[in-house]
Amino acid sequence: MGDSKRRPLAGRRSVLLGMAGLASAALSACANSGSPAVPTASGTEPAMGNAPVTGPATPPPSIAARSSEQAAAALAPAGPSTGPSTGPSAPPAAPGKEQVLAEFAGRNPKEWGLHVTGVVNRSASAKVALTFDACGGHGGTGCDHTLLQTLRRLNVPATLFVNSRWIHANPGLFAELAADPLFELANHGTAHLPLSVNGKSAYGIQGTASVAAAYDEVMGNQQILQELTGRVAQFFRPGTAFYDDVAVDMTRRLGMLPVNFTVNGDGGATYSAATVAAEVGRAAAGDIVISHFNRPAAGTAGGYARALPRLLDHGVSFGRLGDVLTP
Ligand SMILES: [Zn+2]
Repeated sequence: MGDSKRRPLAGRRSVLLGMAGLASAALSACANSGSPAVPTASGTEPAMGNAPVTGPATPPPSIAARSSEQAAAALAPAGPSTGPSTGPSAPPAAPGKEQVLAEFAGRNPKEWGLHVTGVVNRSASAKVALTFDACGGHGGTGCDHTLLQTLRRLNVPATLFVNSRWIHANPGLFAELAADPLFELANHGTAHLPLSVNGKSAYGIQGTASVAAAYDEVMGNQQILQELTGRVAQFFRPGTAFYDDVAVDMTRRLGMLPVNFTVNGDGGATYSAATVAAEVGRAAAGDIVISHFNRPAAGTAGGYARALPRLLDHGVSFGRLGDVLTP
């Protein structure tokens, strides 16, 4: 445990309030984007087909901040030592915002998408890494308890990418997940925005418009995760899973590996259980699978309940990203 994990964080309340304000402002932008085939604030990604359009959605800043403090309080008895397995050693402290802005000023992205240069989509491990996003936002703050029960019953580890909006809505559940060594927590952004340095959009959602905004989107939630768990998250995936290559480099500079996937397990929580079972069922060594655990009405839990026993029977083994990747 290095100092970077334990250093005092000045003005925690003001930080959380600031993050909540950022989330609200960004969500307004999402709500105005208005494409009919877009998951928007519902936060399903990558989108497949008929994801419903949903409205804006986080609690107002005061509520969000209060919820964060509730989350902190819920975690307090557990303490930092019971967090998820994010590795025994602390990464070096991330550079500050001014330094990042100076380093990345004037860089023009050349790529935009799910699998741009610098994003990790698979591992060299013999294991399969299951990743589940919790996006928050309107219709996106649920918890798929059936899915989590299946993972626990089968002792299958997973990495959970959690957005600030979901944490604000589920402080007690967040604390429970953070204390479960089966799960590793990762950073799914603050306002669930595509990670761009020049405002590119994905599924009609306007991405962050500058290096500064991209920094805030990554580090806002990173700060909250560290506050609540006492650990530094080592992996990042943006809302919609879209990045540009400059934002990818910035994410790495900030000490996180930008991660996407080789197998789209639940199509943004739109697939039927049969389709989820088929997609997840083809996972093999080195694959990183993306799905969601914030949509209990989706086919995700049913699909995993079918696929995982078969995969285990065939000798497939599973690891968290921290087990299969080196940050
Ligand atoms: Zn998401």
